Amino acid sequence: MIDVIYAKCDSYDEVLLKEALEKVLAPQIEKFGSLQGKKILFKPNLLVWKNKEEIASVNPAFLLAAAKVFIEKGAIVTIRETPAVQTAHAIVKSMGIAAELESLGVQTTGFDVYKVPPYDEKMRFHNIEIAHEYRSYDAVVDIAKAKTHAMMTLTLCVKNLFGLIRGSERLGWHLAVGRDFTLFADMLLDLYLAVKPAFNLVDGIICMEGNGPGSGTPARRNFIAGSSDALALDASLSVKAGVKDLLLVRRARERKILPEYRETGDDLILAPLQLPDPPGLLLEWGVFLPPFLKTFLRECVISRPVLDKEKCIGCGLCAKMCPPQSLKIVDNKPLFHLKSCIRCYCCQEHCPKSAIRPKKTLLMKTGAMIEKILEKCFGK
Ligand code: SF4
Ligand code: SF4
Repeated sequence: MIDVIYAKCDSYDEVLLKEALEKVLAPQIEKFGSLQGKKILFKPNLLVWKNKEEIASVNPAFLLAAAKVFIEKGAIVTIRETPAVQTAHAIVKSMGIAAELESLGVQTTGFDVYKVPPYDEKMRFHNIEIAHEYRSYDAVVDIAKAKTHAMMTLTLCVKNLFGLIRGSERLGWHLAVGRDFTLFADMLLDLYLAVKPAFNLVDGIICMEGNGPGSGTPARRNFIAGSSDALALDASLSVKAGVKDLLLVRRARERKILPEYRETGDDLILAPLQLPDPPGLLLEWGVFLPPFLKTFLRECVISRPVLDKEKCIGCGLCAKMCPPQSLKIVDNKPLFHLKSCIRCYCCQEHCPKSAIRPKKTLLMKTGAMIEKILEKCFGK
């Protein structure tokens, strides 16, 4: 049974935060064991930081206080995040906490190496490259901001893991799923299965409601939450925040990966968050696109499966394993129907002859090249 712990916390005052964080972290640390000398990766939700009223990112006081709790227990903390526009370091600098983090020995940086994580049979997708660095730490601390989200209704700890996908490919994922949000939820659940952060925290002191995650409005709810399981935390908190049937949680239930949990700590009754407008054609970053253009862009920004005819022995296994039946065996060889292909790469995974591989599109290659050039010119 997983504990989801709640603590009331009325402000970002250092003393109150420390007290509340210690309360929600105590059971998680007990479950994990000693933090002495352990390398701990913080993955906070850092989107942007414009001014001290900003609510799109985890509050700096929250991030700093959490780092201090881990450091006091002997951990070596590194913050890693790859925000869409700025670097993580630039954001903590704008937040005014860069110097203090440095004095505590906390490095702030981005992710550099992306690989497909080890496959777990509960996963749906087989070819998602994610930041590889998380594997060199003893534990991951997933720190989310409680925010509404046009596409996923709420973004909490599981959605925060989306930041582990290469920046230039995140857009592709959004476009790939279009309005089939189930696919997006499934991809997020795969990230959760791959990373399984040992520690999970939600900054719910001032949440975001309305048209999140970028342009919602502040909603004071005065709590923090934590759990050793990101999905259990999201399942519990979404109901408290007024979302009875969050798609992500429903899919987790259908896929039988939602752990049993119980709520502990402070008794918390939250006023429901005002939910975002239905997405319609509105994508997460606020761009209206007609369906044909979305389909076209999807073809441009997601790698597509291609066949090596020489290697293929025509066994047909790929067609059997394709979830949306986008493969047909014609003349003893698979034929892809790319319009319905969801790019899950089950076909590639199951091909006994390695005859299928993902082929990056020109736009993807150009995006990666531009990323590298920008890195060379301006640093990470
Ligand atoms: S699984 Fe591989 S070898 Fe078999 S038909 Fe498909 S591509 Fe060819
Ligand atoms: S052809 Fe089928 S199995 Fe292969 S990537 Fe597309 S949807 Fe997945």
